[in-house]
Amino acid sequence: MSISTPPPSPLPTPTLHARDGILALEGCSLAQIAEKFGTPTYVYSKAALTAAFEAWQQALAGHRSLICYAVKANSNLGILSVFARLGAGFDIVSGGELARVLAAGGQASKVVFSGVGKTRDEMRQALKAGIRCFNVESATELERLDAIAGEMDVLAPVALRVNPDVDPKTHPYISTGLKGNKFGVAFADAQTLYRRAAALPNLRICGVACHIGSQLLDPAPMAEAAQKVADLVDRLASDGITLDHIDLGGGLGIRYRDEAPPVVADYLAPLLKVFEGRSEELCFEPGRSLVGNAGLLLTRVEYLKPGETKNFAIVDAAMNDLARPALYDAWHEVVEVAAPCADSQIYDIVGPICESGDFLARERRLAVAEGDLLAILSAGAYGMTMSSNYNTRPRAAEVIVDGEQAHLVRARETVAALFADEKPLA
Ligand SMILES: *Cc1c(COP(=O)(O)O)cnc(C)c1O
Repeated sequence: MSISTPPPSPLPTPTLHARDGILALEGCSLAQIAEKFGTPTYVYSKAALTAAFEAWQQALAGHRSLICYAVKANSNLGILSVFARLGAGFDIVSGGELARVLAAGGQASKVVFSGVGKTRDEMRQALKAGIRCFNVESATELERLDAIAGEMDVLAPVALRVNPDVDPKTHPYISTGLKGNKFGVAFADAQTLYRRAAALPNLRICGVACHIGSQLLDPAPMAEAAQKVADLVDRLASDGITLDHIDLGGGLGIRYRDEAPPVVADYLAPLLKVFEGRSEELCFEPGRSLVGNAGLLLTRVEYLKPGETKNFAIVDAAMNDLARPALYDAWHEVVEVAAPCADSQIYDIVGPICESGDFLARERRLAVAEGDLLAILSAGAYGMTMSSNYNTRPRAAEVIVDGEQAHLVRARETVAALFADEKPLA
């Protein structure tokens, strides 16, 4: 099989281009967006979101399938509404995410609920909403769900999340399908657990799920996991347990720097081969690959601070806005928004937070002056959703551009809102 790499582009974010020397996302100048909405601001391209989703749809055409966007990658209602209108389902990991999906116009009947720690309240909420499936991750969770469904006099739709024990060859914090991490049930125990589930009165077994990790760049581990899962489904069938769907999780990687992730069709090809001629619906839970390169973080340079061994560009975005560099030492492309007029220098791009780990990028050659704008690319996934209010910093605004229109989909937080629920001790 040949793996085609994405067409070479100087920038990982599609629909980003220079117009009269100023970067624009679709038809919107980033300088004008900064002017209108301030900085730091996350800016997403609706066209890029749509193109990413349609690539998945096209790759799966001809198979009964459901693409469940992994909400944790970016849970803004604006983003969710774009995917809901394109027909997406959703993969959620909390009751809060379910509430967001419904508020954005998503259908409960296309929601799958993952996660190792579902509370009783979350189970009730999801049963009441009528979600499509609970991806159950332990024997005790099966029993709890059965009890709650019994109290509510409904049947809970379940899949077991199995741990196929394949090495996704990715960052240790984001690999989830190996033995010895907290996710899923051991592969060797799966059949026994399915029998147990089948014996519980208030469960309806509908599928099987797995998710082996994130930022996968090689299709081979996914195909290996798919084969193991397909074999399990056959063993279950001989036990009289038939499944309607097979959920293969998310994990497809994106280009941040010079990675060469396969295009969706090439990533899925070996996996679809495994399921050729089978009738189960195939579900996927892509997060990063749908939103990562559709968004950027727009920030302004506050100070340039030359040092003896390093120069710093101190910007108004920080690790509380984009945690990935501090957390995973992740690399994000940084580009000047306007054609540079200053001389270029090597800078560390850092925020104002009182932590040495507060950096967004290190050792980048940039031509910037105080007051200039920078775009931190590939920030659409695990950016805003991992943000915090550390240092009492209001969280960034979020904007979705659609052609010439820029829609504010989350207003910048106010300082007053940050402590509105607190009070001094009387
Ligand atoms: C995080 C997660 C996903 C999405 O992963 P991506 O790497 O963003 O595609 C899908 N399914 C589950 C269960 C997850 O935990």
